[in-house]
Amino acid sequence: MNVVELIRDAQAHQTTRFAFELLPPLKGEGMEGISAAIERLMPFDPAYINVTFHRESVQEERLADGCLHRHIVRRRPGTVGISAAIQQKYGVTVVPHLICGGLSRYDIEDALIDLDFLGLHNILALRGDALKGEEHFTPHTDGHAHAADLVRQVAAMNRGEFVDGQVEECHHSTFTIGVAGYPETHGDAASAEEDLIHLKEKVDAGAEYIITQLFYDNNRFFDFVRRCRAIGIEVPIIPGLKPLATVRHLTLLPETFGCHIPEELRREVLAHAEDKAAVRQIGTEWAIAQSRELKEAGIPVLHYYPMGKAENIIQIAKAIF
Ligand code: FAD
Repeated sequence: MNVVELIRDAQAHQTTRFAFELLPPLKGEGMEGISAAIERLMPFDPAYINVTFHRESVQEERLADGCLHRHIVRRRPGTVGISAAIQQKYGVTVVPHLICGGLSRYDIEDALIDLDFLGLHNILALRGDALKGEEHFTPHTDGHAHAADLVRQVAAMNRGEFVDGQVEECHHSTFTIGVAGYPETHGDAASAEEDLIHLKEKVDAGAEYIITQLFYDNNRFFDFVRRCRAIGIEVPIIPGLKPLATVRHLTLLPETFGCHIPEELRREVLAHAEDKAAVRQIGTEWAIAQSRELKEAGIPVLHYYPMGKAENIIQIAKAIF
């Protein structure tokens, strides 16, 4: 089943499914670490597993002919390969992420063709962030500036339209496309209203569901869903959750993801700042309470962000699924 069918199926059975996201292994590592994490989470019957896509920086090299060549530096390559390996090994729907950053339209098309051949028919289409040292996100000169353009490219390929033109008699890909949404507004957006308009552009371009940025106050998620519905975004909206795990997260998470940390959570963490295990437990229990409320609200899938050794996510999964 594709992700939308999985969501609809959970809705039809009035149940809430578990889903999680993993990072590809660091360059030079094998599949052992990722397999170990998956095997501990499989008993909770994940609806799907997402695999992130990364690029860290760009290195410039002057070639012998004097031309400047730009290499994308990736510490965690292999999204496509590891996604295929996971889907084949565990028989679970896998959703590779694909980003605009660093890729031309031709690179993206090549990746899509590989994904299609490998039986990976679900994609999360993202823009990607600015690289370290860049003030703003800079697209590839022949690439996409916004995730909506990437969604358009994938949707066009589903119709048999390739970068260099239409192919009349062809095998059609059937990608189900998801996109990111921001309950607390994306950092580059001119306003919350404009951010929602751009989110609607992604849906109008062909995105069939939304996974949200992490948040710690469920009211912000519920309000986001209401605002989406009010402007005509009707696709399923899946909440993204990540348990807070360290005192440093109190500042790092808002800085990185623009999320609000509720005062009650902040106070409790600070009251136990010297005890790492207690802080981790507080974060896990907060995520359990959030998950419980979302489940009671009838949300069909809860999506958990990558969690190193998966201990806290296992604790959450045991409590909720
Ligand atoms: P967009 O939808 O393009 O939006 C980016 C900004 O541009 C927003 O502020 C939006 O309002 C604005 N905008 C959009 N269209 C227009 C327009 N036409 N004119 C003006 N402004 C516009 N990053 C990775 O590198 N790899 C990953 O694997 C990854 N996975 C993620 C998974 C999830 C669920 C989420 C929520 C985020 C993930 N990210 C990942 C991070 C994501 O790449 C960043 O948040 C990025 O900064 C924005 O991506 P986007 O797809 O939302 O971009």
